Amino acid sequence: MTSVRSLAVLALPLLLAVGVVPQAGIPPVRPGDVVLTGGFLFDGVRDTIVPNTGIVIRSGIFQTVGATLQGVDLAGATVVKLSDTDYILPGLFDLHAHYAIDLFDQGRVDEYTVNPIVFLANGVTSTFPAGEIDPEGMMAARRRIERGEQVGARIMSSGPYFGTARPSWRAADETPEQVRKEVDEWAARGVKGFKAKGIQGPQLLALIDQAHKYGLPVTGHLDSGSRSSVNPRDAIYMGIDRIEHFMGGDAITADRNAYASLEQLDVNRPEVDAIMKLYIQRNVYFDATLSAYGYWYKPKDERIFTTWMDEQSFLTPHAREVANIRKKPQLEQFKRLYDVKQREVKKFYDAGGAKLITSGTDHPSWGEYLSGFSTHRELQTFVQAGIPAAAAIKMATINAAHAMRMGDQLGTIETSKLADLLIVRGNPLQDIKNTRNVQRVMLGGKVYDAAELLASVKGKMGPATAADDEWWQGDKRFPPAGRGGRGAPPRH
Ligand SMILES: [Zn+2]
Repeated sequence: MTSVRSLAVLALPLLLAVGVVPQAGIPPVRPGDVVLTGGFLFDGVRDTIVPNTGIVIRSGIFQTVGATLQGVDLAGATVVKLSDTDYILPGLFDLHAHYAIDLFDQGRVDEYTVNPIVFLANGVTSTFPAGEIDPEGMMAARRRIERGEQVGARIMSSGPYFGTARPSWRAADETPEQVRKEVDEWAARGVKGFKAKGIQGPQLLALIDQAHKYGLPVTGHLDSGSRSSVNPRDAIYMGIDRIEHFMGGDAITADRNAYASLEQLDVNRPEVDAIMKLYIQRNVYFDATLSAYGYWYKPKDERIFTTWMDEQSFLTPHAREVANIRKKPQLEQFKRLYDVKQREVKKFYDAGGAKLITSGTDHPSWGEYLSGFSTHRELQTFVQAGIPAAAAIKMATINAAHAMRMGDQLGTIETSKLADLLIVRGNPLQDIKNTRNVQRVMLGGKVYDAAELLASVKGKMGPATAADDEWWQGDKRFPPAGRGGRGAPPRH
């Protein structure tokens, strides 16, 4: 005789299969929720793409991922139905996200009106500016975005550069004590990490030590160790969290600058193995910024640097004219660096560094390519280097989130994380260039149409007329400390 209990056991899988019974622990959809159904999902946890049965977002948080929605009342929820060509990815990070542009060959200006929208429209939901020219203006823009007064990507403020890259930095005045004081001030204002560039050892040590008191990571654009610079190897021993551009080590010798060694580096040298091992032992993240070098590749690397949109169309007509007249920097060395760096990144990936590579674009625009679009090029350079597409996307999502010490809140599409994602047309694992086809973006649960975002900033970046040029004359506006000058730029 069959018991009632055994009947129930038999029936349960059947009921679950047809979706009539909600799975244990899955709450019903409530009015005000956002529900994504259909399409496919790359959640950033697995390396594969799966059909999206349902994602429920509540109060800006992923409430349920992989929901069974048959029979569930969706009344009052905003339902976004995706097609079979739509793919959902975690929101992308740019950890070297310059908001700076340089239209006049007079230094860089942080542009924080149009750029935040261009980043967001590209699915880049989190940006670490990696050294700000105008940290006050950047902080004000970030707060406006957080308060909902301005649309844009998350700005994970870096504050000013620590080192000679800061226009007002004078090494003699920047004692370790002064560095600690500045870290205290910027930490209190809410920066999410610090960037060193052109820094000396004692200052870097103070920066790292003081930042860690607040749980904030430090990254550095360092050098070979020549002329009082710091080799990344030594910074790692000081406790640095992240390194930009090149890995350093004993193959990058102090008798010349880092790029001179790097452009001829044989990545099979044992010194390269040794430095990679050190990164892995100390859990140090590496932001290769590959594409930043590839912009100077000659002939232009058509595989990566073709444009899929007229990026100059976001400049004002006057700015576009200016940008096309002025001479852009020519950096022949960068072509050679691009090749070496692709080999270096692939080797680090193979050596066990897959979780430590992050995505950063480092492209302060000269009015040609805009930073917001560059993450897609960076993803493509990873794949061109031989890294699988799934791993490349993780470098721009969960790896980057961990590098910012935010892996518990961001970086994957998982229950209880902040609801940042993008929806692209076409399978990005089959062709990484499909990440460029951004249809919609979600930031903290709010859905944006990518084309509408871009349309809202067409023709708006840069001076409107020649009379407005002065503000855009670059970081020479910011005189060295104590030397007087034209004063602070107007805010906008
Ligand atoms: Zn940079």
